[in-house]
Amino acid sequence: MFYLKELILQLFFAHMPFVMFHVFYRDQPRNYTPKFITVTSMVCLFLSMTFGTSVVDGYFYDTRYIIMFFGLIFGGLQTGLVLLAEFILYRLYLGGSGALLALLTMLITFPVSYLLSRWYVRVERRRVITSSAGLFFAVVPIVLLYLENPSLVHQHLLFHLVAVPLQNVLGCCLLISLFRKAVADKELFINYAQNERVRAVSHMAASLVHEVRNPLTAVKGFLTLIREGATDRGRTERYIEICMSEIARTEYILSEYLAISKPIGDKLLPTDLGDLLSITKDVMSPYANMHNVLLEIEHPQEQVWILANPDKMKQVLVNFIKNAVEACAEVPQGQGKVSLDLQMAARKVTLTIRDNGVGMSEEQAKRLGSIYFSTKASGTGLGMTFSYQLILSLGGSVSVKSAPGAGTEFKISLPIYARKDENIKEELEA
Ligand code: ADP
Ligand code: MG
Repeated sequence: MFYLKELILQLFFAHMPFVMFHVFYRDQPRNYTPKFITVTSMVCLFLSMTFGTSVVDGYFYDTRYIIMFFGLIFGGLQTGLVLLAEFILYRLYLGGSGALLALLTMLITFPVSYLLSRWYVRVERRRVITSSAGLFFAVVPIVLLYLENPSLVHQHLLFHLVAVPLQNVLGCCLLISLFRKAVADKELFINYAQNERVRAVSHMAASLVHEVRNPLTAVKGFLTLIREGATDRGRTERYIEICMSEIARTEYILSEYLAISKPIGDKLLPTDLGDLLSITKDVMSPYANMHNVLLEIEHPQEQVWILANPDKMKQVLVNFIKNAVEACAEVPQGQGKVSLDLQMAARKVTLTIRDNGVGMSEEQAKRLGSIYFSTKASGTGLGMTFSYQLILSLGGSVSVKSAPGAGTEFKISLPIYARKDENIKEELEA
């Protein structure tokens, strides 16, 4: 019973990085950092050693090797060395007759852990590696203890032959495989968030077909009239003019649509936000029309330069407008309205996106930007995650005012890229 209680306590400590990962990263659209691994492993090592099991005075058993192995796999050699230093100092501080043997054991297990950790990240048979590592971490200290004093092992045979190996193998397999799974899930969803644009594009496809079909019908009508010779020369000229402009517009929408759906790079460029807004309006108008929502955009005549990746910024605008249009779906026919307004101040530019749609409760507004938060049946909750993250990464901020039934107002602030227009043109041409 004593062994079992100790085992459970030690396994609890060994799972701390996994628990902490969920506490700190659950709502975050990013994965862990090596610093996170170093800090949680250090705390975990400290607790595990402080509450280590001791059946022989001065000799302690805990999950130090597991934590070290974990740190090496997910944090790298630097984390491993920090943990090693912590272990040596703390073990010397704890003292007792087993201190020297403990240091000697670590001298053997640390390099092996390092090699196994490199192997772990490269190969597929990870479970074999973790269970062999766990077994190895149990065998080395027991063999060394046996060589030093066989009677200590004999006196506590059950502890040394069952409890210690069980603790190491179980701890190793559980902590490492659970953590790896959590990290892999997070990676998957980060990928998914980045592919959100593809989903948005597929949602827009239906409205796009609509938008392309209308001008085609008009063009067909005019061409029929012209073919039948039912119009005079002046009218024919005008009809051809209308047909040309309808075709040009369709061409433009299609090319912008393609630009939105192509994969994007990471490069930051001086970007004219006003221009981006007009383009996005043209791309989103079909979607708004299909939902019977009026889409209005106001921006200053002068150019508004920000430093951003234009493709990603376009995606952010699409995400906000798309949500606003969708929020207006319940509004009585034809009364839904989404307006965008761009205002410049000394150092920053503020874009206000207002809609008279369903709105949000305070609780919902607070969760905006968290990964997976969605109130829609087929929503992903990734559009806002991507957008918030991008705006923050550009040094901007987002605020929201909303109430159920009263519509929503988003304010996005972004730093202005304070350079003269000429310089920007040169830079863009370079
Ligand atoms: P999705 O659109 O797939 O649900 P998003 O990340 O784009 O995911 O949005 C998350 C949630 O935020 C939405 O499900 C909705 O509840 C809320 N939301 C975002 N914008 C608005 C808005 N303009 N009006 C009301 N609710 C909104
Ligand atoms: Mg959305």
